[in-house]
Amino acid sequence: MSTSDNGIPRVVIVGGGFGGLAAAKALRRASVRVTVIDRTNHHLFQPLLYQVATSVLAPGQIASPIRGILKKQKHTTVVLGEVTGVNKDSRRVLVNSADRDGVEIPYDYLVLAMGARHSYFGHAEFEKFAPGLKSLADAVAIRNKILQAFEQAEAEEDPSRHRDLLTFVLVGAGPTGVEMAGAIAVLVRKTLRSEFRRIDPTSARVVLLDMAPRVLGTFTESLSQAAKGRLESLGVEVRLGHGAEQIDEEGVVVAGERIASKTVIWTAGVSPSPAGKWLNAETDHAGRVRIQQDLTVPGHPEIFVVGDASSLDQNGKPLPGVAQVAMQQGRYAGKLIHSRVTGVSTPPPFHYFDKGNMAVVGKGFAILQSGKFYLSGFLAWVAWAAIHLQFLATANLRVSVFVQWIWTYVTGQRGSLLIVNHHASPPRSKAR
Ligand SMILES: Cc1cc2nc3c(=O)[nH]c(=O)nc-3n(C[C@H](O)[C@H](O)[C@H](O)COP(=O)(O)OP(=O)(O)OC[C@H]3O[C@@H](n4cnc5c(N)ncnc54)[C@H](O)[C@@H]3O)c2cc1C
Repeated sequence: MSTSDNGIPRVVIVGGGFGGLAAAKALRRASVRVTVIDRTNHHLFQPLLYQVATSVLAPGQIASPIRGILKKQKHTTVVLGEVTGVNKDSRRVLVNSADRDGVEIPYDYLVLAMGARHSYFGHAEFEKFAPGLKSLADAVAIRNKILQAFEQAEAEEDPSRHRDLLTFVLVGAGPTGVEMAGAIAVLVRKTLRSEFRRIDPTSARVVLLDMAPRVLGTFTESLSQAAKGRLESLGVEVRLGHGAEQIDEEGVVVAGERIASKTVIWTAGVSPSPAGKWLNAETDHAGRVRIQQDLTVPGHPEIFVVGDASSLDQNGKPLPGVAQVAMQQGRYAGKLIHSRVTGVSTPPPFHYFDKGNMAVVGKGFAILQSGKFYLSGFLAWVAWAAIHLQFLATANLRVSVFVQWIWTYVTGQRGSLLIVNHHASPPRSKAR
């Protein structure tokens, strides 16, 4: 293995999400130089993005600067930049940084942990009308859109226009769709109910669609039923068995029927990062890089791909795109690099330990599945809250989110009901 001039191996980690951060932390005692490159300056706790989109939490409560998280690791440098490619032969990544494009950063070991984006299943034209939820900017844009719909309805003098302004459609009944639908239902029925004069927010319609026959298809049937029952008790219309045929500025067409809506949110599939193309490596049907049991790319023991960007089978099934997989894989990649650098025995092949899955449905209700143990209701929600708090990146976020949740639970008030437009609206043309 070639090393940098002074003999210290260089480890480049692309992505400061769950996988990349876990890899960087696992290398904290290794004699290496670590460079973490991310196009944002923060580590984002994506499982709580829906709470920013639905005004429960403020953006700063679920994200933390990567620099701050890694500040004690003196051998770790954080670079704000967009990686645009990898040259496997010269062992360099290409980065567009703040002041220059195409900067080459050399590596001896490379960990690609760039996550995934949402996929519109070949309907890129839907994105304009149905934004997805993946980044903090997405969450703030969706929050603006939801709150703006109420403002527009309040200002609208023609009551026949209220219906489509106050219809919220979520396309995709996986965890994000279910959690968003539950949170919007509680927002309209509890938080906003007495804040408007011309409209009645409780009359808002929340529709959750999926082509699958049940919500939360990765959970067992009984939990899926419990979640559906809970959504319906919150007033959410759950429509299964048909996908969105058309999405445009007037709403959604499902099974030939148009649902008029000014707020459609995409909560369906994910499409992976371009890592497969950069590496010219084999990918699975979803475009994720196929990796080996030691998480490296075949033929390249120095290149690891972890988390949502990778595809690895365990017990004949691909590992799911969840935070636990990314964290465990990132940690493993870091430890393996450490052991290779020090020459000590290498760890056994990677094995994912599934601690279980959870989803929250409205206030004080969650479902939990861990092996053969299933739970739904308030206790599952307490477990959900405790586990999510534990995995937030820093202590100040844990305290702040905990206090906000207690406040919201007791009072029904949300943390951030602000419409924040980052660009001033264009000047209105003067009436003459
Ligand atoms: C809305 C939502 C809700 C979710 N809820 C849950 C949940 O409840 N439980 C659960 O377990 N999982 C959940 N997930 C999935 C979980 O968040 C992912 O599986 C996990 O984040 C994957 O980790 P990762 O490290 O692979 O990628 P990420 O955490 O996505 O990190 C990727 C990082 O790479 C950076 N990056 C990407 N491309 C580039 C580039 N070209 N150059 C530089 N930097 C780049 C990004 O900025 C990002 O910081 C959810 C995901 C979403 C979107």
